[in-house]
Amino acid sequence: MLEKLNQFSPKALFQKLRDGLNKTRESFVGKISKLFSIFKKIDDEFWDELEEIMIAADVGVTTTEKLMDKLKDKVKKEKIKEPPEVLEALKEDLAEIMRGKGGELAKSDDGVTVIVAVGVNGTGKTTSIAKLTHRLKSEGHKVLLAAADTFRAAAIDQLQIWANRLGVDLIKHKDGSDPAAVCFDALSAAKARHCDYCIIDTAGRLHSKANLMEELRKVRKVIAREVPDAPHETLLVLDATTGQNALLQAKTFAELIDVSGIVLTKLDGTAKGGIVIAIADELSIPVKFIGLGEKLEDLRVFDPMEFLNALFESGEKTENS
Ligand code: GDP
Ligand code: MG
Repeated sequence: MLEKLNQFSPKALFQKLRDGLNKTRESFVGKISKLFSIFKKIDDEFWDELEEIMIAADVGVTTTEKLMDKLKDKVKKEKIKEPPEVLEALKEDLAEIMRGKGGELAKSDDGVTVIVAVGVNGTGKTTSIAKLTHRLKSEGHKVLLAAADTFRAAAIDQLQIWANRLGVDLIKHKDGSDPAAVCFDALSAAKARHCDYCIIDTAGRLHSKANLMEELRKVRKVIAREVPDAPHETLLVLDATTGQNALLQAKTFAELIDVSGIVLTKLDGTAKGGIVIAIADELSIPVKFIGLGEKLEDLRVFDPMEFLNALFESGEKTENS
């Protein structure tokens, strides 16, 4: 039996997000808090340590430098003397960067909404598609899946297993077949069967970037021909555990195809969650979902402010509280 998304209370959901961010909290907020207990005054050494923590949490050099400049400025202007006050100021600066960097999933005004998932192999495309299908189904939508990652038979089988589990139709061809032809058939089926969503899984071999992008462009062309205004979403799936590499992948993909949103997976297993801040700061692509585990209910709509609160809230009662 599939678990219903709505069985959890908002409080339990927030706790789940907070727990998922445990490793990043330890490596980022935890270390910063410790810094404040060690340093009694704000000096050069303090700033160096703070900078090092941010880089280590994968906030990235560009965003870290920007944050440091802002913070130093604020400390000077507002005559901040105590290190703990710096944490509050940092939180404000982070909020400024993150605010508005989420985004809702697009929806077609009439007919089928077409979503294409792209990204490097292993980032979590297929799993995220399954999770998204679970979410859309539980909202009452009819979903059809398309196995356009035709490069490996295992990729088609994996999606078939999810489709069976989720109780949705899958359009697939033999492995090695033309992904654009799979998309053509999938969209015909989605229209004929009056589906609300058609979600397309694509290949992610980066060893031949030019070929991959050419294939994706061809897929998009077929989609646009079959359904006007489609694809409504091209979601780039990025693996948070790869840190700065994820940012690099995003820049590469965005240069070559239109990416409308990011799904950032595996935030549960990493101390590199600072990458969310770098993505929000350096890319003009909204983060639409985050992955917090391997289960169907582990895909969460990205709410930047909620994310920051969960990151900064330890949830554990200290001895003094
Ligand atoms: P694809 O090659 O991009 O289609 O990637 P897959 O969907 O096959 O995922 C690769 C691996 O990452 C699988 O073992 C997934 O279970 C795992 N995975 C995907 N998303 C998450 C996540 O949010 N958290 C964790 N811990 N694992 C994930
Ligand atoms: Mg896959």
